Amino acid sequence: MTHILHRSTRETFETALSGEGSWLTLKAGGRVLDAAGGAAVTCIGHGNRRVASALAEQATRLTYVHTAFFTSEPAEALADLLTDDGHFARAFLVSSGSEAMESALKMALQYHVECGAPERTRFIARRQSYHGNTFGALSVSGHTGRRSIYEPVLWDTVSHVSPCFPYHEQGTQEDDDAYVARLAQELEDEIVRVGPNTVAAFVAETIVGATSGCATASPGYFAAMRAVCDRHGVLMIGDEIMCGMGRSGKRHAWEYENYRPDIQTVAKGLGGGYVPIGAMLINDRVHDALAAGSGAFVHGHTYQAHPLAARGALEVQRIIREEKLVERVATNADPLRTRLVEALGNRHSVGDIRGRGYFLGVEFLADPEARIPYSSEAGFSARLKAAALSEGLALYPNGGTIDGRTGDHVIVAPPFNATEDELDYIAEKLSVAVAKVEAAVQA
Ligand code: PMP
Repeated sequence: MTHILHRSTRETFETALSGEGSWLTLKAGGRVLDAAGGAAVTCIGHGNRRVASALAEQATRLTYVHTAFFTSEPAEALADLLTDDGHFARAFLVSSGSEAMESALKMALQYHVECGAPERTRFIARRQSYHGNTFGALSVSGHTGRRSIYEPVLWDTVSHVSPCFPYHEQGTQEDDDAYVARLAQELEDEIVRVGPNTVAAFVAETIVGATSGCATASPGYFAAMRAVCDRHGVLMIGDEIMCGMGRSGKRHAWEYENYRPDIQTVAKGLGGGYVPIGAMLINDRVHDALAAGSGAFVHGHTYQAHPLAARGALEVQRIIREEKLVERVATNADPLRTRLVEALGNRHSVGDIRGRGYFLGVEFLADPEARIPYSSEAGFSARLKAAALSEGLALYPNGGTIDGRTGDHVIVAPPFNATEDELDYIAEKLSVAVAKVEAAVQA
C-alpha cells in the first residue's frame, strides 16, 4: 500500500522497476514492451547511459539558477538547437506541455498588446482536441471528458470549430478540396461571428493525439486555415507536444503541410522522458513585436529553463541527431505502419490505421463499414489495455466515444530506435490482444 494519489482511487497500477531500451521491468515480475513510449514520450528508449552521464555531470556542475538573474549553458545550447533550422527565432523553456501551451496563449495575447490591439483576447480552437490540463490549456481543449468538471470556470473567450478529421467527418460525396473549403469557411464564419478584431489566435494540434488517435489533416487544410487567419490578422498556435520533435518522421509535423505556425509548443519527445521539459517556439513576427514593444514576456515559472532539464533534453536531441533516428522513423518503408496493417488487416473491429511515422493510431469500431463505435459499456479500450499488458505490451488507449465521434482507439508510438524484432513483437502481440477483446465483447 502506497500513499501516492495516482490517476484513479479504484484502479490498481503495476510498479515499474526499471527500463532498458524499449522494455520496462515490473516489480511483480515480467517485462513489458513500452510500445507507446508512455504517451509518445520515450523516443530513444529507457536507461540510456549517455543521458544518465550527462545528467550526473550537470548535477554536480549546476542544477539551478533563477532566470531573473542568469541563463545557463545547457538552456542556451538547447534553445539554439531548437531554432537552428531557421523556422523559429526564439525558444522559451518550461517544464511540461501544459506550461508550454499556457505560455503560447499568453504570448499570443501579449503579441496583440504589443501591436496595439489589446482587444484581441479570443481564441478559436477545435473540438476533439487536447492541449493540456492547466486552465488556459484546458479552455482551448475540446476534450469533453477532461473539461466537464471544470466547465463552469473555463474561459468563455474560446470557441471551438470542427477539427479536420476526414475518417469521421468528410462527406462521402465530398472530395478533399471541398472538405477543406468547408472547414476554412467555418473558421472564417466563426471569426466574423465573434468579431475579427477580437481574435488573438487559432489553436490546433498538427496531428491530433489523445482525442482522435493520430488523425492527420487532409491535404491543404493547414494552408487554408493559414490563409483565413492571415486575412484577419489572427496568429496560429501549433501544438506539437505529442506529434513533434521527430515522431512524425520530420522534426515538425507541419513540415508535411506547407504551412508553419507563428507559435509552436513541443514537450514529450523533447526530453524523451528523462526530464520534465517543454518549450514554446516563436517566429520572427512574434519575437520582433515583443522586442519592438515592451521587450518583457510577462510570464515566468521558478523552474523555467532549468539547467538540469535542459541538459537532459540536449543530450536526448544530440543522440537523435547523431544516430539519425528521425530519418529512421521517416524512411525504412514505413516499418511500423506496414506491420500494423499486415497484422491487423483481417481483424473485423479495425476501422482505421492512421498517423505518420512512429505516431500511429488504430481505431476500433463495432461496425467499421457504417462507422458505428462500440458502446461505452463494452469498454473496448480498457479491455485492450489489459489484454495487451498481459501479452507484455503497453499501449496508449483512449476509451469510449470521445466528444461523441471517435471510436475506441490506441496510439502506437514506440521509441525511434526500437529494433525490427521489437516492431514485429508489437504487431504480433497487438493482433493477439485485439482478437481476445473482439471475442470478449462479442460474448
Ligand atoms: N498538448 C498535447 C497535444 C498533448 O498530447 C498533451 C499531453 N498529452 C499536452 C498538450 C499537455 O502536456 P503535459 O501533459 O506535458 O502538460
